[in-house]
Amino acid sequence: MSKVVKFGGSSLASAEQFRKVGEIIKADPTRKYVVPSAPGKRFKDDTKVTDMLYACYDLAEQDKDFSDALAKIAARYQEIIDGLGLELSLEEEFSLIEKNFKEKAGKNYAASRGEYLNGIIMADYLGFTFIDAATVIKFTEDGMLDADLTDELLSARLADCDCAVVPGFYGSMPDGTVRTFSRGGSDITGSIVAKAAKVDVYENWTDVSGFLIADPRIIDNPVGIEVITYKELRELSYMGAGVLHEDAIFPVRQQGIPINIRNTNAPEDAGTWIVGSTCQKSKYVITGIAGKKGFCSVNIEKDMMNSEIGFGRKVLQAFEENGISFEHVPSGIDTMTVFVHQDEFMHKEQKVVAGIHRLAQPDSIEIESDLALIAVVGRGMKSTRGTAGRIFSALAHANVNVRMIDQGSSEQNIIIGVANADFEAAIKAVYDIFVVTRL
Ligand code: ASP
Repeated sequence: MSKVVKFGGSSLASAEQFRKVGEIIKADPTRKYVVPSAPGKRFKDDTKVTDMLYACYDLAEQDKDFSDALAKIAARYQEIIDGLGLELSLEEEFSLIEKNFKEKAGKNYAASRGEYLNGIIMADYLGFTFIDAATVIKFTEDGMLDADLTDELLSARLADCDCAVVPGFYGSMPDGTVRTFSRGGSDITGSIVAKAAKVDVYENWTDVSGFLIADPRIIDNPVGIEVITYKELRELSYMGAGVLHEDAIFPVRQQGIPINIRNTNAPEDAGTWIVGSTCQKSKYVITGIAGKKGFCSVNIEKDMMNSEIGFGRKVLQAFEENGISFEHVPSGIDTMTVFVHQDEFMHKEQKVVAGIHRLAQPDSIEIESDLALIAVVGRGMKSTRGTAGRIFSALAHANVNVRMIDQGSSEQNIIIGVANADFEAAIKAVYDIFVVTRL
């Protein structure tokens, strides 16, 4: 049995947090491969080291003096080293970083140093082997992860050591220059390492005890999710429920390795398991609710639309020509509605409308703004009668007017459109009916 353990920035923001992480790793000898993020926020208005590095490199790029900014970053690490009582010195590393910043080594290099240095500290603290991610995580010429080469290099390197630290967030291009993933990308590194090391579990340690059924800013103390499938997670993340980087799923999913989201500040909590599929039913029929405000609907009407072959394509072409992606397209006999992000659509609205008229000759087009979309997700919905009925009666009781319903063919997901102003009330009503009263 072996595990990869990835720790997020808030889990490694200070010496105190490092100690908690050390305890967690020592408590279980199967936790052999560690992927650290850069130090995150220690308190609410603190700055993440990654952001400090970006800002510092900005100065360097403009040929401004960046010595103070770099000294502040060095101080963050020194505080951790001192707090842990380590002998380690990062002086040489910082001289090299300073030199490379002066030589304009690039934004990616700059940002990657957050994880790189934290990895050095972590390896020293734990007595594990340090593996520079630039030597084992490889990108292709066009900046995509070279999954095969990475897997080959990384598994060979890991075979050489019993326990290792691989810093998150970065790798290197074919010419050796450093490249990072998008923000939050240490989650992806954790998944890549889990795949290469063929571990049994990928533990992803953060500052919450897994996923919650609904957003705690809307629902007081929502219940946690014990088990969620990759598919359900994808639906919920798309609607804004973030904890894990979206691209972190793919490498482990290919190998059937489950992800366990855990809380560094409450290690006794079981957290959430993310799995390929499961026979475990979720307790409440629904697995989760998530949603976003700020959508517009474009309602297009045309008599006999349904028998006109190619009508939908022509309508969507008008959106495509203006570089707008659509979210949902529910349709009726003579109507078709296209949901788009309001902020993207607003500036191009008249061009799109003109495009639809030109391409599809509809009878009328109406635009409604300030709508919210809510996804009610659950693998249990398929085998339970009346789920949609319960949702809509709950919404009716809460005086929420439903503007759109879209049930995906996977039957794992019902999307509801409501006015922005009804968003919170709608989520509360759905949560109440399934989780609180469980009617
Ligand atoms: N440190 C990087 C960030 O702040 C990557 C990560 O934490 O996953 O986005």
